[in-house]
Amino acid sequence: MRFDVITLFPELFEPFLQAGVTRRAYLSGLVDVVLTNPRSFAQGNYQRVDDRPFGGGPGMVMMAEPLEKSLQQVRSMRADRVPVVLFSPLGRRLDHAQVQRWATSAGAVLLCGRYEGVDQRFIDAHVDEQISLGDYVLSGGEIAAMALLDAVARLQPGVLGDAASHQQDSFNTSLDGLLDCPHYTRPESWQGASVPEVLLSGHHAKVARWRREQSLLLTQRLRPELIEQARAAGRLSRLDEDCLAHGPAADR
Ligand code: SAH
Repeated sequence: MRFDVITLFPELFEPFLQAGVTRRAYLSGLVDVVLTNPRSFAQGNYQRVDDRPFGGGPGMVMMAEPLEKSLQQVRSMRADRVPVVLFSPLGRRLDHAQVQRWATSAGAVLLCGRYEGVDQRFIDAHVDEQISLGDYVLSGGEIAAMALLDAVARLQPGVLGDAASHQQDSFNTSLDGLLDCPHYTRPESWQGASVPEVLLSGHHAKVARWRREQSLLLTQRLRPELIEQARAAGRLSRLDEDCLAHGPAADR
């Protein structure tokens, strides 16, 4: 798949694309990321990409023309017609279901806003979908674009060391959409706190049951709506329901 990112700050993406486990996905082209800077299409000596808002008020607005030229260039470089996504606080909040959809898509054109945002006429003419990271305001869409790219890259086969590893993350299939359990590593005792006994037992079935119970109880406490969803989808076993009603089997 290929994501074309339209951004005034392409340099922000360079360290991001070169770090961590997702690096392989970007380098191999599994998740191809192509950066386009609207400034290359700006007019005049000052290469303006923004201007003052009509009607007055603070801040600047990204001009439609350099964005449209950027989009034309992107469209001329790729034969498929992927959707144009604008990152914006007005958008739908990004979640696992959307990430999964993008992870199996042909990609998208990702438009990163700056300043007060983008001239509405460009949005009306070209933007298919708006995505928000959450109810707060960032200075630009770049961090939102990186969040989407990172989440998409780690879902690609072979990107995480263990092929099954992302399936055991929060919201994923092996967890039936629940939250992940707590994790521990060496040493066995740290500042007087020890690791739950069962994790040292070497008893795989007991470990698996403990993890499932932790996921269930954590999700019930922190995100009860995810329990409802799993239940409605028929993903909770009799044992699961017993745990939710009466606590971990070992404590009963
Ligand atoms: N005036 C706008 C905020 C502009 S912030 C408003 O009040 O809604 C500048 C840019 O940062 C936006 O155009 C958008 O691309 C990006 N941005 C800011 N907050 C965001 C969020 N919560 N999610 C996704 N993108 C965001």
